[in-house]
Amino acid sequence: MEKPAILAVDDEPSVLAAVGRDLRKRYGADYDVRRASSGAEALETLEALRLEGRDVALILADQRMPQMTGVDLLHKALELFPTAKRALLTAYADTDAAIKAINEVRLDHYLMKPWDPPEEKLYPVLDDLLDDWRANHHPAFEGVRIIGSRWAADGHRIRDFLARNLIPYRWLDIETDAEAQQLAELADATAATLPLVLLADGSILERPATPLLAERLGLHNKPSLETYDLIVVGTGPAGLAAAVYGASEGLRTVLVEREAPGGQAGTSSSIENYLGFPVGLSGADLTRRAVAQARRFGAEILTPLEAMKLTTKDGYHIVTLSDGSTIASQALIVATGVSYRLLDVPGAERLAGAGLFYGAAITEALGVTGEDVFVVGGGNSAGQAALYLARYAKSVTILVRGKSLADSMSKYLIERIEAAENVHLRTLSAIAELHGEASLEAISVRNAETGEVTRLPTRAVFVFIGAAPRTDWLRGTLQLDEQGYLLAGSDLLHETGRRPEGWMLEREPFWLETNVAGVFAAGDVRRRSTKRIASAVGEGAMAVQFVHQHLGGPTPAQRPGAAAKG
Ligand SMILES: Cc1cc2nc3c(=O)[nH]c(=O)nc-3n(C[C@H](O)[C@H](O)[C@H](O)COP(=O)(O)OP(=O)(O)OC[C@H]3O[C@@H](n4cnc5c(N)ncnc54)[C@H](O)[C@@H]3O)c2cc1C
Repeated sequence: MEKPAILAVDDEPSVLAAVGRDLRKRYGADYDVRRASSGAEALETLEALRLEGRDVALILADQRMPQMTGVDLLHKALELFPTAKRALLTAYADTDAAIKAINEVRLDHYLMKPWDPPEEKLYPVLDDLLDDWRANHHPAFEGVRIIGSRWAADGHRIRDFLARNLIPYRWLDIETDAEAQQLAELADATAATLPLVLLADGSILERPATPLLAERLGLHNKPSLETYDLIVVGTGPAGLAAAVYGASEGLRTVLVEREAPGGQAGTSSSIENYLGFPVGLSGADLTRRAVAQARRFGAEILTPLEAMKLTTKDGYHIVTLSDGSTIASQALIVATGVSYRLLDVPGAERLAGAGLFYGAAITEALGVTGEDVFVVGGGNSAGQAALYLARYAKSVTILVRGKSLADSMSKYLIERIEAAENVHLRTLSAIAELHGEASLEAISVRNAETGEVTRLPTRAVFVFIGAAPRTDWLRGTLQLDEQGYLLAGSDLLHETGRRPEGWMLEREPFWLETNVAGVFAAGDVRRRSTKRIASAVGEGAMAVQFVHQHLGGPTPAQRPGAAAKG
């Protein structure tokens, strides 16, 4: 944690050096003692500290300085650090000004020069002021701060990226928050540079692209090797499980993730049916544990990087990444899951991230406090999201095309939705259009039976309408079904009645193996998979056993003594 600052200001170099020395001697261990030789320099220091998100405990200023007096400086400092203690260093002749300042700038004390010996004339007063400051002080937030307009798409992109990568941040809304407006002014922000991201080291990023943000936050997105034993694409439950088993069983394992670890499960507010967690756990919690476990065994996680292309040469699978680099391995597990289908109605493209959100209920929940919001979809993910949003929003209306939720949602969720006073269900309803220019203002909803269209005002719609695999990057290399799901194992044989074209091995493809030997599919991306966290985890673990067999070594279960050890 950064130390709070004490700022000493005096235009007389010898006095400034002496006061700086005395302050450091007594307070240097607990405070960052800064010096400034004029009011202007002091203000610059204070502005920089403000932008860095630092605390200032005390400003000790000389009264008689050219251009700006001590009182004037303390007056201006009030705006930047209203809770900092303020003391004036005065000569006898200035005491009138000091007494006046007690009221004007809420001066806490004035000290007479010279202050020797400091043990008698300086420290007792300052100790008292600093004790008082500490007792009433709430430490400044030290993480990332984002300043922007709540309903701007870039703001959502950045918030979602940080939230999903489990990086704490503070959101400051420029339209409603005085602190946000002050910081934006200090940083000379304009509409074109917002949102601003203020990092803990004091640097400011203007509307940063996600890869730049990731780099500045120290996320790992450069592979440390060119060749691995196992590449896993996707870090949802299937990919993370594959990494835990692969790395723990001695495979040099790398994971590639386009957005953030956790996949769909990472966006869940409460997972209640995953074995071993009787009261449930959040997707973020599950992700945090799984990532720590994979890293503990030495798996490398590259994020955000997207796998763009797969080629196979001499038994090696080469993955081209979104930054143009390549990594290779003899075994590859594709665990890229599925993503939400996009809403295909007028206004949807324009308003994505600006009131229309895909998933993202957790990231945006606080922002919809007191609002009337809509959730589109009738599956479990929509039900979970509606209940979570209902903690913040004034009302949540679930829009479903069907006549009820019974066919698509688990009973326990339906019961909770019925019991929640501010969650409403609107059946036979589909969004026909989204309205608003810069951000969402209203939606048109069409009744499936009557065709009647109703316009409803709202600032936020959360969409959970089924999912589709994003396997375009594998088209032409791996066999997919008509919806884009990967074919593996017996599905390959059923489809054609024979072994896959180009299959050179004596053996048939393993159960999770695709038409390219050594490339496996695990989790939701695989055709007819169960679409559950536990199944994805199971497939990730199982795929690693096939990797061992493909690489020719014994699987851990086949190693001598394995049965005896259990
Ligand atoms: C909101 C919500 C709540 C849910 N709740 C539950 C629940 O309570 N219980 C339950 O059992 N199931 C639940 N599910 C379903 C469950 O989350 C999924 O079945 C599970 O996450 C599938 O895991 P996966 O690893 O196969 O894929 P995903 O979780 O989809 O992960 C795939 C990962 O691959 C990444 N990726 C995709 N393409 C690329 C690429 N080209 N390069 C790099 N990375 C890529 C994605 O960004 C993603 O992180 C829920 C789903 C949602 C959306």
